[in-house]
Amino acid sequence: MTTVPASVVTSVVVPCFNESEVIEAFHEALLSALEPTGTAFEICYVDDGSNDRTRLHLKELSAADPRVRYTSFSRNFGKEAAMLAGLHMAKGDAVVLMDADLQHPPELIPRMLELHGHGYDQVIAQRDRTGEGILRTALSQTYYRLVRHFMDVEVIDGAGDFRLLSRRAVGAILSLPESNRFSKGLFSWIGFDTVSFTYTNVQRAAGRSKWGGRRLLNYGIDGLLSFNSRPLRLAIHTGLWLLLSALGYAAWTIGNAVIHGIETPGYATLIAAIVGLGGIQLATLGVIGEYVGRIYHEAKRRPHYVIRETDESAPSQPEPQVREAVWSK
Ligand code: UDP
Ligand code: MG
Repeated sequence: MTTVPASVVTSVVVPCFNESEVIEAFHEALLSALEPTGTAFEICYVDDGSNDRTRLHLKELSAADPRVRYTSFSRNFGKEAAMLAGLHMAKGDAVVLMDADLQHPPELIPRMLELHGHGYDQVIAQRDRTGEGILRTALSQTYYRLVRHFMDVEVIDGAGDFRLLSRRAVGAILSLPESNRFSKGLFSWIGFDTVSFTYTNVQRAAGRSKWGGRRLLNYGIDGLLSFNSRPLRLAIHTGLWLLLSALGYAAWTIGNAVIHGIETPGYATLIAAIVGLGGIQLATLGVIGEYVGRIYHEAKRRPHYVIRETDESAPSQPEPQVREAVWSK
């Protein structure tokens, strides 16, 4: 039993993408974790354009229980967009963000609420890397070391999206308008009193992870680039050092020619210099291109997601049968 005052309303935000195999088990587990706390709560499910039966499950759950609400996207917009929609939906004083695949154990929520009761605005449940492949662990650790070195905000290994945010922390997150959302960075950027505790990593209950190697790599690059302009600075530094060494080399060659007379230097040095410089220029252009792309993306000011239906809109819009047959294949 926890010491959470009954007046605190808790919202649980759950992004779901193709989770029909696990959503019911998850919902049961969540209810059995929340009910004993005696707090008023709501569960905000966000269906991120799933093409299985997830949306129908959510619809049923919300029809059966007034504490359950849902929003469904018109297509898959990604987990970041789904979490943002959930934060917009949530009305609670404390908002818990968690995955639908039971990798974020619901039984930790009472502990998070308790810590929130002690005045923390962000409570992070940090997972260890039990049961993960050696390669993935090594790669992730290297990535976090790199990120810590390069980023202006602190991002901790294992501290993912399983966290509790206070109302003012949610307000701060919602006030950030950028469309390129790297939530790990955003959570860290808003600050506030933060506390974390560790739990043992759990494997997914059913279904498949949507994060293949390539998607993870892109996510990593996104994180690095979207949170600072240090890669640009790095490009400038490299360019300057190259310029200096080129000048030094030229001075040395001229000096050599003056002291020892003219000798023909090998063309290999030339080629190496040209190719090396070309490579660096291309890489730098790529870095600049990434930022320009991001500016272009932000400048369009598109909404982060498009809503197909919510629990409030659903009853007034009867399901078109034909479309249903196409979507829930
Ligand atoms: N998710 C989502 N949209 C996506 C991909 C994932 O809403 O495009 C949700 C998914 O349903 C789950 C959570 O984000 O609740 C974490 O996804 P997953 O388990 O695939 O990631 P992993 O745990 O492997 O990092
Ligand atoms: Mg998962």
